[in-house]
Amino acid sequence: MTNKICTGCGQPFEPRPQVPDQAYCSEPDCQRARKRQWQRAKRQSDPDYRINQRAAQQAWTQRHPDYWRDYRAAKPEYEQRNREQQRVRDQARNADLAKMDVCDLPSGLYRITRHPAFPMENGDPWVVEITPVTVTCPRKMDVSREDFIDTPTIRP
Ligand SMILES: [Zn+2]
Repeated sequence: MTNKICTGCGQPFEPRPQVPDQAYCSEPDCQRARKRQWQRAKRQSDPDYRINQRAAQQAWTQRHPDYWRDYRAAKPEYEQRNREQQRVRDQARNADLAKMDVCDLPSGLYRITRHPAFPMENGDPWVVEITPVTVTCPRKMDVSREDFIDTPTIRP
């Protein structure tokens, strides 16, 4: 008889013989947690499942148009919490972007030139080439003033 620790409530339980790697006990709360966990994993691994779930949710919302309005009216703190969570998500995303900025190009002097293979048509985005001005040590910035002024793309 092997007792396991439930992932949901942390209590020891005895797995059913037909489910040897059972991770949740049979308490309703823990079974609900197990289902949520399964759905989360499924959403991440199966795009069809994700799309079906969203469609089902939207269909339900259309049948119950007042549900969320009533819910929010009944629980003002719900909206407050939503805003707070969105703020945290935004911050995490901005932090990621900032990280991306620093990891690829160290700060220093760079020359940006329009790439000749992509002639500019009206309204086309520029395709540019970014070249470090000092290859060995981009932080030193030991280029002369003339070099700086001669660079045609820097001129106004
Ligand atoms: Zn449990």
